[in-house]
This record gives sequence, structure tokens and C-alpha cells, in this order.
Amino acid sequence: MRQETKCIEGGYTPKNGEPRMIPIYQSTTFKYDTSEDMGKLFDLEASGYFYTRLQNPTNDLVAAKICELEGGSAGMLTSSGQAANFFAVFNIAGAGDHVVASTAIYGGTYNLFNVTMRRMGIDFTFVEPDCTDEELEAAFKPNTKAVFGETIANPALTVFDIERFANAAHQHGVPLIVDNTFATPINCRPFEFGADIVTHSTTKYMDGHDATVGGALIDSGKFDWMAHADKFPGLCTPDESYHGITYVEKFGNEAAYITKATAQLMRDLGSIPSPMNCYMLNLGLESLAVRMQRHCENAQKVAEFLQANPNVEYVTYPGLPGDVSYELAQKYLPNGSCGVISFGVKGGRAAAEQFMKHLKLAIIATHVADAHTCVLHPASATHRQLSDEELIACGVKPDMVRLSVGIENVDDIIEDLSQALSSI
Ligand SMILES: *Cc1c(COP(=O)(O)O)cnc(C)c1O
Repeated sequence: MRQETKCIEGGYTPKNGEPRMIPIYQSTTFKYDTSEDMGKLFDLEASGYFYTRLQNPTNDLVAAKICELEGGSAGMLTSSGQAANFFAVFNIAGAGDHVVASTAIYGGTYNLFNVTMRRMGIDFTFVEPDCTDEELEAAFKPNTKAVFGETIANPALTVFDIERFANAAHQHGVPLIVDNTFATPINCRPFEFGADIVTHSTTKYMDGHDATVGGALIDSGKFDWMAHADKFPGLCTPDESYHGITYVEKFGNEAAYITKATAQLMRDLGSIPSPMNCYMLNLGLESLAVRMQRHCENAQKVAEFLQANPNVEYVTYPGLPGDVSYELAQKYLPNGSCGVISFGVKGGRAAAEQFMKHLKLAIIATHVADAHTCVLHPASATHRQLSDEELIACGVKPDMVRLSVGIENVDDIIEDLSQALSSI
């Protein structure tokens, strides 16, 4: 099946007389005839459901669809994108370990790594996505367990050179984890460029309608854990909390990583999405391919309009020739990047505030990447406590507006931006 077809048909094929839509298994527990039957599930000797904190059939059908879209071997859903990125790293790195991450990542992920996971004893080295080979090489340590980056960074909108970072990771015997939230598997499939694990905040384009917070964790099944068994004892040596199972031996490279994340992390941390939310996520996935196409078409036109507007200082969008990421976007995102654009309003912070005040269609929201066009002026919202100097120091320009182009008629979006810009 092609991607558009997988969006509709992937993950679930009803048998004779079964419901067309995925059923919502709104049940915490599952019934068994004998204790022996249930015992086999607890021993991971048989697969099946017993308690929704670990696994739920509705969730698994939707995870299977995303896994097919990414071309992976196994996948799971989490209650948020934050949980997915935490699981992705914590499944293979613990206290005393180290991870190399790109600086161009979502602020929430940066904080998760740099504050919370450091507190858990995991060390991080952050490298610029366009660092030299020497700088990248120098970031690795003997205890490095993974490399992490974002296909299209939120909000920097730089494109990650997946192949280059995958090669570096593999030379050091560790996997590359890629957060593919903004590109979605419609526009980029990181596994095709050597990534080993993909994460998503499904809250964004996958849900696409401002309805549900969620995350996904997908394994390519290609990383050879046993070849680097000394680095990954959690996968390659017996798990005493599961009767001495060795995940790679028992489940193979295809399923070991996700089985461990389910059996240990979901069991102990319980970041499970509700079956109802997964059902709604599935509705979003059905139209993902057509929506992404429209998001990209609209964003390209809006970016070109902004570039030509006299009240606009600069525009950042990977689809614009001359953009810092244009070349990489041609390679990794030939069918389009995403609907998010950032631009500067001439006249600085005050002018940007004036512009925001005059918008009528575009709503002001901290959210991005869904059907509704929305805008955020970080200097007067998320970063409002900072002075202009402090803003510049942390890479957020006072005049910068982040615009998430929706799937309304593009002429309405442009008219709205145009009248608000001319109010300055
Ligand atoms: C939003 C976002 C996250 C966090 O996801 P939540 O679902 O909000 O927890 C992680 N990565 C990227 C790229 C995001 O845009």
C-alpha cells in the first residue's frame, strides 16, 4: 500500500461481520478462563491484554497504523509527545549514560533532557545541527547510548541531516532517534535515511484538529543490539523483573525495543493514552495525507506572500529557495516540509504586537500544526518576561512571529495577514 492508502486502511482489517471503524475497547481489564492463561501473559509467554495501563487493543491498532506509515517493525502509543521522547531515550539510557542531541529541538524536549533527565543521572551533549565533523565526533563519549534530533525543528524550522547523524551514531555503535512530528511520515520517513527509532507528538498534524494530546514511539527493527551488547544490557541481558527474559533473544531485533518499553516503562510509569483518544487520533490519521498536502501548499504560498511584503523583515521556511535549510529540504522533504513558518515584523516587538492585535482569522494560540491557522508571538507570550537582549541571547528575536498555516482557503489566510500587516 502507498502512504495515502495506509492512512485509511493501515493497522486494522475487519473480518467478516466486524465493525468497519476500530472498536473502542473502553475497558481497564480483560477476562481469562484460567489463572494459567493469565500467568502466560505475565511471563510474556503469550501475547494478549490484561490491564490497560500496559496495553489496550484500540491503542495497538492505531500504533500499528503509524508503524506501517513509518515503515517500522513495532510501535506503541504514549499519552503525550513528551512521554514518547522520554521513553525513547530512557529505554536504552540510564544513570551514568550519555546522549548526543541536536540543539535544534522542541523547547519541551530540551528541558526534559537538560533538566529532568540530567537529574536522573543521564548526561547530554548538545551539538549544532550544522556542526563540523570534528565537533560531532568530539561529542561522543565511551558511555554514549543514543543520538537525538528532529526532522524539522520546532520552532527553528531547520532540517536535520538524518543520514549524516545516522552514520555518526552507527560508527559509535548507537542508534539515531528522530522526532518526526513536523514532517510526519507523509513528507519524510527517517528510517529510509538510516534512523533507527522515530518518535511523534501525535498532538500535532497526526491528530490535526486540536482534539487530543498523544505520542508515538516506533522502532525500525534494524538496529543490531547484540552487536553492541555491552552498551545495552537492558536489552541484551536477563530482566530480573520479568523472570529473567532477555528481550533481544526472546523477541528479536524487530520487537525487543518496543516490548521492553511496554513491559518495563509503561508498566512502571503508566503514560498510556485513553482508548477514546486513540480512536480520535485514528480519525485524524485517515486524512493526514490530504491535509499535509494542503498545509504545505498553503504554507508555500503564504511564505512567498510574506517574503514580498514590505512590512516583513525576514521569513524562515524550508520551502523557500535561499532558506538555510532549502538544500536539505530538497533531499529529505521533496514533497513539502510542513505548515509552520516563522517571520519577523519590521518595527520589532511593538510592531509584532500591533500585527497580532489586528488578526481576525488567525487565532492566537500556543499550539501549532493543526487545521486552524494560528499564530504566536513568543516575545509577548511564552517569553514575555525576557528583555529584548535576553530574547536575542536565547535565539528568539523580539520581532519573530510563529505562524502555523492551516487548511482554510489560502486566499482568506493571506487577506487576513495582509490587512494585519498594513495596520503597522
Ligand atoms: C509538541 C512537540 C513535542 C511534545 O509533544 P506533546 O504532545 O505536547 O507532549 C515534542 N516534539 C515536538 C517536535 C513537538 O512539536
